[in-house]
Amino acid sequence: MNTREYLKLLKEDIHSTVIATVDEEGRPVARVIDIMLTDENSLYFITAKGKSFYEQLKKHPYVAISGMCGGEGTMNKKAVSIRGKAVNIGSGKLKEVFEENPYMAEIYPQEESRKALEVFRVAEGTGEFFDLSVKPIFRDMFVLGDRAAEAEDSSSHRQGGFFITDRCRGCRICYSKCPQKCIDLSVKPLVIRQEHCLHCGSCMEACPFGAIERR
Ligand code: SF4
Ligand code: SF4
Repeated sequence: MNTREYLKLLKEDIHSTVIATVDEEGRPVARVIDIMLTDENSLYFITAKGKSFYEQLKKHPYVAISGMCGGEGTMNKKAVSIRGKAVNIGSGKLKEVFEENPYMAEIYPQEESRKALEVFRVAEGTGEFFDLSVKPIFRDMFVLGDRAAEAEDSSSHRQGGFFITDRCRGCRICYSKCPQKCIDLSVKPLVIRQEHCLHCGSCMEACPFGAIERR
């Protein structure tokens, strides 16, 4: 899947997400916000100018967004998390927000009342996708913003995690501790299959030769 598809899942399958900002003293504040629109490489949400959320976004525009869909247990659970900069675009796309999300007209029935709302676009950021419905689990990273297409062609944004170095002696202790069995034993040194790794760190903790690094 690419950035557009992950963002579409966030809007259509998850829709209500938790968005975190910081207050004037730098303390975290979280609330539930609906994702109203998405496009190739960005997402849009709205808030009213009277809310403290709006003030926080103006002072500190960096947000963390997380949402999950799926039933109880791990069956069908999929999660998307994003960190990025929320840019105020005023009433731009507000008409589209109401067209694509008809329930908003029940909350703000009069055109006049909609003047209190402004739209924020999150571009410039990174995202993470988790699919817990498959075994081993599947994870992926993606990039938002104008560099998204460029990043699709490179693996640079997919870095980060645990890596086995050439200090590996092939003892396989890491594999025995790995909850996802996502360490490839067929090569030397062994290789962690990043797309299935939970980032739990159990392998690094267990390796008697200090051959696993977090990067
Ligand atoms: S525990 Fe360490 S030395 Fe042993 S196979 Fe794993 S990475 Fe290599
Ligand atoms: S970090 Fe956890 S899931 Fe990933 S390879 Fe190591 S033990 Fe396995």
